[in-house]
Amino acid sequence: MNSLAALTNEELIHSLKSLVGDERESLVAIVKHLAEFENRRLATEVGFPSLFEYCVRELRYAQGEAFRRIRAARAADKFKILYRLLERGTLSLTSVALLEPHLKWNNYRKLIRASIGKSTREMEALVAALSPVPTEPIDRIRFLTVEASVPPAEAADFFTQTPMSEPQGIAPPTTVPQEAPAAPGAPQTSAVRRVHFSFTGDEDLLHGYERAKELSRHKWAGRMEDVFGGAIKALLEKIDPDQRQRRKERARRLAAGRRSRGIAATVKDVVWRRDGGRCSYQSEESRACGARAGLEFDHVRPWALGGSSDPVNVRLLCRAHNQLEARRVFGDAKIDAAIGASRGTSGRTEGGR
Ligand SMILES: [Zn+2]
Repeated sequence: MNSLAALTNEELIHSLKSLVGDERESLVAIVKHLAEFENRRLATEVGFPSLFEYCVRELRYAQGEAFRRIRAARAADKFKILYRLLERGTLSLTSVALLEPHLKWNNYRKLIRASIGKSTREMEALVAALSPVPTEPIDRIRFLTVEASVPPAEAADFFTQTPMSEPQGIAPPTTVPQEAPAAPGAPQTSAVRRVHFSFTGDEDLLHGYERAKELSRHKWAGRMEDVFGGAIKALLEKIDPDQRQRRKERARRLAAGRRSRGIAATVKDVVWRRDGGRCSYQSEESRACGARAGLEFDHVRPWALGGSSDPVNVRLLCRAHNQLEARRVFGDAKIDAAIGASRGTSGRTEGGR
């Protein structure tokens, strides 16, 4: 017989409330652990391409569950009061996850106050109002700035919208200067330049975008910026005469036997087959990553330290493990600086070190 059946109504109510309290306490402890995991980059260290993948594959969370916990961890790690509000049940995990991209030091109190007691639907309306969808079906490009204290990886989620130029008509991204002079009155102190793009497209474009996002999920965590950036890069590789010329020169150098950072297509084929088209990273406990998407060719002994581009010195790594190895060899400071410098330009090139 079910032991709960023996409880009085009052006891049953008390017991349930006490369990929910325990559940919230555990949830906050888990969120704190995830924040610490992220700060240590521990998921990549133990062989996963991302914390999200770790949560789904190792901890067996459903994708939505993992997503909400990771977002809550990011938010509460920055705004510690959220831990208390989660524990008391004042804010739900879903509310915190929805708020996360919008919380800034100058608005978090107001946003948190406005979120208390709201249902999920009301929360969705609240955050939708924070980033209204442009209604005019025109192509627009405008400059934004990002607070310099925000780490680059989070920049897109935390940007401060400061229009620095009037909406332009149709203009291809290549015409946007990388270092345009700041408009008068715009914050200039070591701000990271960001650009807001908006345009409308048909459903074919949407389906193509969804497909590209799915195929590059491991590499880019599905960020729109990365998917479109990758598409532009691939297009330019095909149609830009300068890039074709550089490729020709690289091929000539390789043919002439000079040591080159570039990896010959024949070498790539050999390495790809040898590594089975998977990330070859193994953790200290010999746990193999095995990611199949977002793979990069990596020099085992870094090219910068005299490593060759022969098959024996080249391996396949997923992006996360390529970066982990780069951090191990060159240190965090150098890699963070390199990532900062490459953002907003062409993105990462293969064999990043
Ligand atoms: Zn990997």
